[in-house]
Amino acid sequence: MIYTSTRGEAPDLGFCDVVLAGLAQDGGLYLPTSWPTVSTDEMRRWQSLSYADLATEVLLHFVGDEIDRDTLNRMAHAAYAQFEHPAVAPLVQLEDRLWLMELFHGPTLAFKDFALLMLGQLFEHVLSKRQEHRVIVGATSGDTGSAAIEAVRGLEHVTLFMLHPRGRVSDVQRRQMTTVHDANIHNLSIDGDFDDCQALVKAMFNDAAFRSEMGLSAVNSINWARIASQVVYYFRAALTLGGPDKPVSFAVPSGNFGNVFAGWVARQMGLPIEQFVVGSNHNDILARFLTSGDMVAEAVQPSLSPSMDIQVSSNFERLLFEANGRDAAAVREAMSGFAGNGAFSVSSDTFAKISEHFSGASLSDEATLAEMASLFSRTGYLIDPHSAIGVAAARQCRHSGDTPMVALATAHPAKFPDAAHQATAQSATLPERVRHILTAEERVEPVTAQLEAVQAHIRRMRAGQA
Ligand SMILES: *Cc1c(COP(=O)(O)O)cnc(C)c1O
Repeated sequence: MIYTSTRGEAPDLGFCDVVLAGLAQDGGLYLPTSWPTVSTDEMRRWQSLSYADLATEVLLHFVGDEIDRDTLNRMAHAAYAQFEHPAVAPLVQLEDRLWLMELFHGPTLAFKDFALLMLGQLFEHVLSKRQEHRVIVGATSGDTGSAAIEAVRGLEHVTLFMLHPRGRVSDVQRRQMTTVHDANIHNLSIDGDFDDCQALVKAMFNDAAFRSEMGLSAVNSINWARIASQVVYYFRAALTLGGPDKPVSFAVPSGNFGNVFAGWVARQMGLPIEQFVVGSNHNDILARFLTSGDMVAEAVQPSLSPSMDIQVSSNFERLLFEANGRDAAAVREAMSGFAGNGAFSVSSDTFAKISEHFSGASLSDEATLAEMASLFSRTGYLIDPHSAIGVAAARQCRHSGDTPMVALATAHPAKFPDAAHQATAQSATLPERVRHILTAEERVEPVTAQLEAVQAHIRRMRAGQA
């Protein structure tokens, strides 16, 4: 399988090179040159597979012949054995025609474990085969960081530098990162917001000399292997609720657009999906785009759902490329407009193609708390603020009352205990297996939000470790 950049000016690469590269050299994002398709019969055979075996089958379509089935299957079992629930991604019915898919049974209690534990396996496999070392840099608004840390801690061929915005991640999220003391893990607290952190990571990748000096790789949601791994649970949910013979719809609380884009990929592969509902908090660049066709960044305002406090939805570039008929020049133009003025618009044609499948709604913090409270009082189900946004957006935007709607529950409520308490007066307690982080010693490396300062820090720490 060959991959191409959305900006059309980077070399085409195979799967393993795309995994290591993360971002393409031209600043674009990699996509397969053509979408693999799965027949209805093959999907029916997938209905009875375990989660890890299903992941193997889905991923094989993207790996091509670069990793054999048995090796991939061993990696999938190693990744998904770390989930506490036997179904890995269980479905819970909330009300008539509305299900919740719980994606928080992994080690860091959020859905990013699905992609990152698999990505850690892939990195180790490819790097040990090639006898190479990589420095991974990433930016997190919360959940990516701890999931990446869990995925690569203790690996021999990887050193990880994770940037987080100081004071803008919850205590639990911060402690999940800073209480990991493996020598290959560095937590950098940056005096800025998430978009500053993400801009620093992008700038490091765009610095060709630094990039090759350090052997930089990314595990942010731009990495293709993360998208590919997330495709799996869309199949799991749909095949459980009547697919491939009946359509389902999905509601996804989204920031970077990575999660919901994975659903769109499942649809490209042939899975019947009727509608994607995207939920945002008051940082609602995606919801505004989906009603207007204009992508306009505003200042980020902290919310009760911090993992979606984002005004730059990196993975949207992939959908833009597709909806434009794979016109890389048009993507370059839109992205340079966005980099320059924080805005771009799409043609009415492109917008029509996108709105055919995607709708969006945004929720204020008050509306988020109200959804959490009403769900709890009606059903006794305690939901986290991100997932509550997906559920409420689903109710607002669903086209058809007949098609089953699956709202993705992206985090365990105990990761956001203040919101849970405010909404329901319940204290959401951390599962026993992660409670030790509340008292463990924290280790953080504070750095100013300047490219030179961050690069110097990374050079120094890497030299000290080597
Ligand atoms: C990361 C995250 C999101 C947003 O996911 P994207 O892929 O950026 O759209 C939503 N909810 C939680 C809990 C998250 O950690």
